[in-house]
Parts: sequence; structure tokens; C-alpha cells
Amino acid sequence: MSTIFSKIIAKEIPSQMVFQDDRVTAFKDINPSAPVHILIVPNKEIPTIDDVTPEDEAVLGHMLIVAKQIAREQGIAENGYRLIINCRSDGGQEVYHLHMHLLGGRRLGPMLAQKD
Ligand code: 5GP
Repeated sequence: MSTIFSKIIAKEIPSQMVFQDDRVTAFKDINPSAPVHILIVPNKEIPTIDDVTPEDEAVLGHMLIVAKQIAREQGIAENGYRLIINCRSDGGQEVYHLHMHLLGGRRLGPMLAQKD
């Protein structure tokens, strides 16, 4: 089922888009958790990282190349950044269109909370 991200990719609703080509779209997160918080999304509707198939291998690799490029453009490559893909409910996924978070611009702290 389509999500709001398909509408953003199709430019049917506005976003702060930073990159788009025939495979991937990247736009600023509406509720940023860090000074730089960008979502990198395959144009193809794939619900979760658990739904990818071998035919998605190229687009998944492309998402990483695009992330690296955007990190450079946003000026966070040198100090470093974090890439996160949440999967389903325990992973904290809210939007069921696969996406990778690119976060940086400050020290991000430990990867996970120490306790629930
Ligand atoms: P998830 O929790 O699924 O990994 O991340 C979903 C992200 O999408 C959240 O960080 C949320 O702020 C962002 N988001 C949800 N709806 C919109 C929207 O309409 N526009 C933008 N730019 N980001 C959104």
C-alpha cells in the first residue's frame, strides 16, 4: 500500500527535496532528530528492509552512494554521521516505505538507549 512517501517522490505533496534520480529520492525529515536529518528512499515501493529481494540489490547500493554524496554536500562527512534503517514495530518503523535516515551535525551519542 502506498504511503505519504510515494506522494513526496511524485511531488504531489511538498517536501524539502535534496536529491532525486530515477531510482532514489532524498528529502529532509519533517521532524528532525539532528541538525542534518535526511531520508533516502527508493522510488520503488518496498515496505520494509525485510521485503527486499535480490533484484533490489542495485538500488540498495545506490542508496548508500547517495547517502555519502549528500553527507558531503551537507558538510557532515568529515566529522561523521549515522545511517539508520528501522524495520517494523520493534525497529520503530512508522512509515512503511523503506527509507534510510542520514543523521549528523552533532555528536549523536550511543546507538541505543541503554535500557528500555
Ligand atoms: P521511521 O520511524 O519510519 O523510520 O521514520 C519515519 C520518518 O518520516 C520520521 O522521522 C518522520 O519524522 C518522517 N516523516 C513522516 N511523515 C513525513 C512527511 O510527510 N514528510 C517528511 N519530510 N518526513 C516525514
